[in-house]
Amino acid sequence: MAPDNKLATVSDAPAPAALKPPVEPAALAHRDLLTGEFWRRIPAYAQVSEAEFLDHKWQAKNSITNIAKLLAALEGLVSDAFIADAQRGFERAPMSVRVSPYLLSLIDWSHPDGDPLRTQFIPLGSRLLPDHPRLDLDSLHERVDMPVPGLTHRYTDKALFLALDTCPVYCRFCTRSYAVGIDTEEVSKFQLKVNAERWQQTFDYIRSRPELEDIVISGGDAYQLRPEQITLIGETLLSIDHVRRMRYATKGPAVMPQKILTDDAWTDALTRVVEEGRRRHKEVVLHTHFNHPREITSITKAAMDKLCERGITVRNQTVLQRRVNDSIDTMTLLVRRLGYVNVHPYYIYMHDLVRGVEDLRTTLQTGLDIEKGIRGATAGFNTPTVVVDAPGGGGKRDAHSYEHYDRTTGVSVFTAPAVHPGEVYFYFDPISLLPPEGQARWADPAEQARMIDEARSAAITAKH
Ligand code: SF4
Repeated sequence: MAPDNKLATVSDAPAPAALKPPVEPAALAHRDLLTGEFWRRIPAYAQVSEAEFLDHKWQAKNSITNIAKLLAALEGLVSDAFIADAQRGFERAPMSVRVSPYLLSLIDWSHPDGDPLRTQFIPLGSRLLPDHPRLDLDSLHERVDMPVPGLTHRYTDKALFLALDTCPVYCRFCTRSYAVGIDTEEVSKFQLKVNAERWQQTFDYIRSRPELEDIVISGGDAYQLRPEQITLIGETLLSIDHVRRMRYATKGPAVMPQKILTDDAWTDALTRVVEEGRRRHKEVVLHTHFNHPREITSITKAAMDKLCERGITVRNQTVLQRRVNDSIDTMTLLVRRLGYVNVHPYYIYMHDLVRGVEDLRTTLQTGLDIEKGIRGATAGFNTPTVVVDAPGGGGKRDAHSYEHYDRTTGVSVFTAPAVHPGEVYFYFDPISLLPPEGQARWADPAEQARMIDEARSAAITAKH
């Protein structure tokens, strides 16, 4: 509408020369999804038919679950030196191994060193860096806020239900490496197995807390729940009056979209819970976890199309990782591609301080730059918020909301007034990316506490 409410006249229309020219097809790369029988490039899958590859049972049965088998599958694809390097990487990894054939097929094995998908799942000893001195295995302190084992109640109206401890794949960067998967040489895991008594205690607690409106069902991974477990959790939580929103959290669509297409019992169970939620005027959605545009293929689109047809909302949470998605171009492509397949980009997380993956972390400044670079690339509702999940239990904080950020020491300070008023939380950039002066201070143990005190004082001064 023109100013003073008059209708615009034809002469007010922009001249044709001012119109935006059509974009070159190359600028629409987000629609360019991998298609065809790409898995046949892997010698072990050269004879696998499309029907087999799309079968979730075949994917699960052929997922690689130990280091020796994974390295054996790579023979002939990569050099002996690469295999030896990966062997050294796994010896120091806190996570178990599980890689789906689909995921293995998406890795560019002609350049495995720099491949962003390989980087997330197969560690290389030569890349590993010492952990940050302030790192803790459960850096989010999820166990501190657990009234029942496996139920974290941190935010007033929301709880996180860790229903099980297994996943369709195991990711190097997992923030729950303290519990997820089987014990490794490095870590004895906190037990979160499926357990009827533990689940009952969880439901009883949620029922007893009228302020809880929002429940995240995670783990582990909701993909690993049997259909009757999806139904039991869904129906039980929906029957609690004060529960208004539920999210099933799964990395599945990013690493095994076949399940949505061919595991009818699982997808139908989820659909029924979503429909029952709708009947009760409650929201039930799927939260997933794509980190790189190459994880989205024509198979993913078919799976997301199926969920779209059933009216199931899917949101995405990405972890910002060095050499994986730490550029504006990669993240812009990811965000646009997610939107194209009807997945809402919700969050980009700064990488948590997790043991054994310091090579994957990057600086808060990188997160700030990426947020600035991608905002405006697509609609605001499809633009993710960059967040720091504040170590020590502060919860998710907008990356821009730091009270203080020293780019030389890499120490940033956050507060969380609605979660823990009066507390301050620190995030730490990886030391390897700091300027020499900052690296020198962290090398001196006497300086470490001093840098944190300085940051705390600067944050308090900035607030007053
Ligand atoms: S799928 Fe999720 S919970 Fe499982 S290992 Fe990966 S990040 Fe962790």
